[in-house]
Amino acid sequence: MTATLLDGKATANTIKRELAARVAALRARGIVPGLGTLLVGNDPGSEIYVAAKHRDCAEIGVESIRIDLPATASQEQVNDAIRELNSDPRVSGFIVQLPLPAGLDVVQALSLIDPAKDADGLHPMNLGTLVLDSTGELGTPQPCTPAGIVELLTRYDIKLEGAAVCIIGAGPTVGRPLALLLTRRGVDASVALLHSKSLNVPSRARKADIIVAAAGSAHLVKADWVKPGAVVVDVGITREIDPVTGKSRQIGDVDPAVADVAGWLAPNPGGIGPMTRAMLLTNVVRCAERHQTTSQ
Ligand code: NAD
Repeated sequence: MTATLLDGKATANTIKRELAARVAALRARGIVPGLGTLLVGNDPGSEIYVAAKHRDCAEIGVESIRIDLPATASQEQVNDAIRELNSDPRVSGFIVQLPLPAGLDVVQALSLIDPAKDADGLHPMNLGTLVLDSTGELGTPQPCTPAGIVELLTRYDIKLEGAAVCIIGAGPTVGRPLALLLTRRGVDASVALLHSKSLNVPSRARKADIIVAAAGSAHLVKADWVKPGAVVVDVGITREIDPVTGKSRQIGDVDPAVADVAGWLAPNPGGIGPMTRAMLLTNVVRCAERHQTTSQ
């Protein structure tokens, strides 16, 4: 591998240390930040993510409140659980772990979250503010994965202003909100947002200074899609059962050979996953700080 590592794990640990100090300051004033999670069903990936989020909370002094519902839960049971988290004073912010089992309405669920407690930044009002607030001055919760990508690139001093960024994958969690964050004033990147119907994806990727692979297609991005020295961020996740261990394992969107061409590489796992969780904690701490300000 010749690419320099964009180490999401180490950067997330730095952010967690910074947050721990803010949590201690809140606790000193009698405020205990709390993250709520709502997990519906037993998707193996989701179970791993939720457990990791609660471990993160324990590390930095954030309380965690967990509601688990069976895969057979009705929309009304899911809605009731969201209302419970909205009104629970221990919960500063919470998430509905996605994906929800088939048959449940994601938009209905996300729309019921109190926007002030929206730790994933996925409430339609907060997503809408992302479009309207071109500078980020309103400080509403940002979607965690796109925010984590921008934060990682920024902390490694990767130049974003004027950079040609090719995002492969125009999904609601990563690609589309990331395009909005990267084109904010003060960030000022130029974005090509590609998807499964886009033409000439390899040659368009090859023109980019920064490639963000967020399609969920295992090893999609090949070495000859990458301009030598470019920055590559591997976000997409495919899960498969390891035939040797029988355990679920995570495969990224970037072919391992890319590491020999790229200048910088955020690997998967170990890149954007930990950054996403660090941004979730950041949103929760901000929710607690904002609540403290508004209730004074
Ligand atoms: P999504 O899964 O809803 O949509 C995928 C997008 O990729 C669509 O726009 C689709 O058209 C495009 N796409 C699929 N195959 C393609 C191909 N061969 N060429 C070009 N485009 C293609 O999107 P999402 O919810 O934003 O999630 C994107 C990926 O990121 C998923 O794999 C998800 O699991 C992953 N993810 C990772 C993290 C992390 O922490 N690393 C966090 C959130 C999401």
